[in-house]
Amino acid sequence: MDYPFFHVSHYIDGQFVDRGPRFDILYPATNHVIGSAPEAGAAEVDAAVQAAARAFRQWSRTPVAERRLILKRFAQLIRDHEAELAAIETWDVGRPISENRAGYIPRIAANIEFFADFAATHGSEAYPMDNGYINYVLRQPVGVAALIAPWNIPLLQATWKMGPALAFGNTVVMKPAELTPIGTWRLAQLAHEAGVPPGVINVIHGFGPNSAGEFLTKHPDVKLISFTGETTTGKIIMAAASSTLKRVSFELGGKGANLIFADADLDRAVAISLRSSFFNQGEFCLAGPRLLVQRPIYDAFLERFRAAAANLTVGDPFAASTKVGALISREHHERVSSYIAIARDSGARIIQGGTQPNLPSPFDQGNFLQPTIIVDVQPRDRVCQEEIFGPVVTVAPFDDEEEAIAIANGVGYGLSAVVQTRDVGRAVRLGAALEAGTIWINDFFVRDLRVPFGGMKNSGIGREGGHYSLEFYTEAKTICLSN
Ligand code: NAD
Repeated sequence: MDYPFFHVSHYIDGQFVDRGPRFDILYPATNHVIGSAPEAGAAEVDAAVQAAARAFRQWSRTPVAERRLILKRFAQLIRDHEAELAAIETWDVGRPISENRAGYIPRIAANIEFFADFAATHGSEAYPMDNGYINYVLRQPVGVAALIAPWNIPLLQATWKMGPALAFGNTVVMKPAELTPIGTWRLAQLAHEAGVPPGVINVIHGFGPNSAGEFLTKHPDVKLISFTGETTTGKIIMAAASSTLKRVSFELGGKGANLIFADADLDRAVAISLRSSFFNQGEFCLAGPRLLVQRPIYDAFLERFRAAAANLTVGDPFAASTKVGALISREHHERVSSYIAIARDSGARIIQGGTQPNLPSPFDQGNFLQPTIIVDVQPRDRVCQEEIFGPVVTVAPFDDEEEAIAIANGVGYGLSAVVQTRDVGRAVRLGAALEAGTIWINDFFVRDLRVPFGGMKNSGIGREGGHYSLEFYTEAKTICLSN
């Protein structure tokens, strides 16, 4: 197998710099070294933040129409490099290339384009008062934004954060996850080529505690933090940000329910459930790994779902037919597999998967796991409560709407849910009753960028998207104009 080698560098003040000890980047499908990246220490983080603070003085005052043009050039370059970026995301993450070729890269470009247009076209509030005065609101950028991303959807995360931050006039220091630094480094090159001025985008690499992540979240000149990652990390970052009162937006873990009612279209329910269970090997915050099926169709659904999961091709992420790729790392594979053992020990049954597939060399060295279905579980079981973040789902029956809602809401997370029913009234009731930031009725992972995105409970703080991003990434100033 031919491997590329990515010599990843930081991007600070418009320069690609190689400072700090280097760490290896492994291809999840074979654990072969495919590159290396430098770890930023306090000095590199400070250089990046200072560059962003200097650039802020200009970028925040750059006419919004000009910012829009520059960001649109950046987005166009992303579109022009669709094939290359699709491959990079597979090298980084181990996700099947077929997924990355099916609209993933245009979605990344759209994150930049949407906010470039939104910032340029969005109005402001004005309130003429009875006494002839006028109150109006100015929205101004906040300053240097620290953007910290996880490893599961790196390109989507990077642009989802950079797009609004930059469009509304902030400058950014972005830290991709240490396991997936390649894509964001490549994005920085494209931004550079597009003419994004030096210091407006900075990308630094490294780890969390006592490394780039921690130094960034504690830096006094960082004014706001958009973080996506684990709930436990969010708590640490919130504490780190508190002494300098930084504004935070957190998109954290999830444990979504997928409620399938007896009146659902069974074929469609199976197809949607396959995606909500196994997209990105289940390493997806929005996944619906808790399938709850109304009793009259429980057996029929389970048999069809099991057969469909057994049919998913697991293996070489660059093979066109592959549907399930590799988990991100050996450690994560072990962690996910440990939940299968926990389920067995608590008396549950594994009716599909549960083991590493038998793959030819070099994929026998990769972090593969068969799509796994667990039944005979109780709602309080650990596998039904904790985020597993892999291709491991539980399926359990329920009798009525009330019971389904109680089980669905009976977890600490509240990011997303899927409801499958043909009863409009029920869809409306469930939409109101479920404790989740996003609820899909008869579909999965479809979203307009104008709606709020974020989680309830342990799944996050705040919302981003459309004017919710505007609120997070700007200061609102009220001007009272007398007559
Ligand atoms: P993680 O929390 O371990 O790491 C996320 C990022 O935070 C990485 O860049 C990491 O280096 C950095 N980090 C870690 N410790 C830090 C610290 N002390 N200070 C500053 N930065 C620190 O998460 P992960 O394992 O990379 O990603 C998986 C998690 O992300 C899952 O819980 C998943 O649900 C969540 N996620 C949530 C969403 C969402 O939109 N809600 C989207 C994708 C992933």
